[in-house]
Amino acid sequence: MALATMDEARRVLAERFGYDGFRPGQGELVEAVLAGRDVLGVMPTGAGKSLCYQVPGVAAEGLALVVSPLVSLMGDQVRALLEAGVRGAYLNSTLTPGQQSTVMRRALEGAYDLMYVAPERLADPRFVDFASRARLSIVAVDEAHCVSQWGQDFRPSYLAVGDFIASLPERPPVCALTATATGRVRDDIERLLGLRDPLVLVTGFDRPNLRFSVERLEPKRKLARIAARALRDPAESGIVYCSTRKDVEKVHEALVAAGVPATRYHAGLSKDEREANQRAFIDDDAPVMVATNAFGMGIDKSNVRYVIHHNMPGSMEAYYQEAGRAGRDGEPSECLLFWSDGDISTCRFFIEQESGNEELSPEEAEAVRATRRRMLEAMVGYCYTTDCLRSYILRYFGEEPPGACGACGNCDGGFEAVDVTAEARAVMRCVHELRGRFGKGVVADVLRGGEGGRAAELGLLSARCFGDLGPGSPEGPEPGAPRRRDAVPAARIREVVELLAAGGYLVVTEGTYPTVQLGPRFREAAEPGFSLAMKRALRKPARAERPPSRAFGASGGASFGDEGLFEHLRALRKDIATRLGKPPYVVFSDATLRDMCARRPATDEEFLEVSGVGLSKLKRYGEDFMAAIRDYEAR
Ligand code: ADP
Ligand code: ZN
Repeated sequence: MALATMDEARRVLAERFGYDGFRPGQGELVEAVLAGRDVLGVMPTGAGKSLCYQVPGVAAEGLALVVSPLVSLMGDQVRALLEAGVRGAYLNSTLTPGQQSTVMRRALEGAYDLMYVAPERLADPRFVDFASRARLSIVAVDEAHCVSQWGQDFRPSYLAVGDFIASLPERPPVCALTATATGRVRDDIERLLGLRDPLVLVTGFDRPNLRFSVERLEPKRKLARIAARALRDPAESGIVYCSTRKDVEKVHEALVAAGVPATRYHAGLSKDEREANQRAFIDDDAPVMVATNAFGMGIDKSNVRYVIHHNMPGSMEAYYQEAGRAGRDGEPSECLLFWSDGDISTCRFFIEQESGNEELSPEEAEAVRATRRRMLEAMVGYCYTTDCLRSYILRYFGEEPPGACGACGNCDGGFEAVDVTAEARAVMRCVHELRGRFGKGVVADVLRGGEGGRAAELGLLSARCFGDLGPGSPEGPEPGAPRRRDAVPAARIREVVELLAAGGYLVVTEGTYPTVQLGPRFREAAEPGFSLAMKRALRKPARAERPPSRAFGASGGASFGDEGLFEHLRALRKDIATRLGKPPYVVFSDATLRDMCARRPATDEEFLEVSGVGLSKLKRYGEDFMAAIRDYEAR
């Protein structure tokens, strides 16, 4: 028998959470769970995974247990539920033993619909005893990829989840959720959590409200570009990711000096300071966060308007997860990636350095490194591609893109494609002839035909490819030029090497003796159809420095001319949140404020029509916000 009907689920969605309908994938997952079936939902960050267990948790009788890795955020998650009129609780080490007993006792009395627990808790005999006596409606496993060693955030404590579920006297349906799409991780989740014939649902990875752009910048120019974006609207929330603590400090200092209310987060700060800074970010007291990748998992702050990467991350998985923290509310948001050559060598260095997990044999460790190299090359490919960035992302995650998006940094014409096929062929011939023994610098020297450089030292003056891209060679920097006087610049040759590596035609290793070798696709580069283009910025102000545009992406109901009202309501939200000691986005999301601006509700019925407003929020805030709208219109 079903745990609850879909009609009940839809009523919960509308009355509690204030939403008209399920997003793609949500409905199917909720329906399956309510029918008693295990599910595995794979959805990108921001797609709305939480509702997939929250709605069944409320609709079904009994207690829904939610396993979540982030102890420091459970309080916020539960607060957001209480705000929506949902009976939620959490159990973790931030509570005293007395409080924990009270929560468990109340849970047994049926006081809660949902309870968040940390995975460590599942091994605690007291908790196991409690769980065997509670009437569990479902067990939800959030961030389920943490169970897999192949994922990015492996947590050994997640390995206890499967045993825990198996030990329950009556096994409820299990709802596992993750944003990690790789098959290996998915298999691990199914196996290690012991899912039974689960409905596996992978939703599209597209996030239409995100605008992607990539720019190659000298390290010293990055700061100015980041500050310019942040200053466009200093009250707007954004995240700046840096690859090292040192960079976090540098960028943070520069932003604060420029007058941006920024805070910071990295593993070198004390626990107290990390928590205080995270709080300041969530509460919009310091709307801009500068952080290493240690920050962000489980942060569900929905009004992050931009995510800037100050360095290139090591994989598309990492990039999309981090960038995807922008615009969870569906409002237009930006994902800017700034990179420089140094970022690539840094990533390569880390891959080669890493001895990895001690439990791996040398062969396994090498296999892991090989996987990581491939992942890195795909990331480098994203930096170099002249194609639509959104299409590149979708293809990477295994989806066929519908066509160029027309709205990303590559589509909107800030760049031109320069043909470098001839240079690429010369590089391939050279690497082949040098049999992969040398690095990029030597390849460039040999091709440029410099007689005084490394080529002479290494005895390569007689190489067949010597001087192929040197002065007077037919392959000029201006395509079609019959002969040219100057050699192809070494920087250009190095860039072509990177491009070829990104495409799998070459492999570049980093380490004590970095070398360039032929890659798995090297033969294709010799075929007649082969061509290669490089991206070059056109000389015009970059789009991100121009005034904001709300014209991109698919955002329902947003219209121009509401900016004043939006700011008015945003200020009211901040006041209320401060007074109540809650994060502003928990009061209302940006998307809800936008919809309010578009609808300008004047009655309770109209206020309920606003997306994200349920009965509980109408009662709490309806009057204040409708008064604010009236005031604004009377001005
Ligand atoms: P995820 O966990 O997948 O990253 P969340 O569960 O945090 O995403 O949801 C992201 C945002 O989308 C939240 O602000 C949430 O309220 C909103 N959301 C989720 N489902 C819906 C829906 N059906 N309609 C409108 N908004 C939704
Ligand atoms: Zn595009």
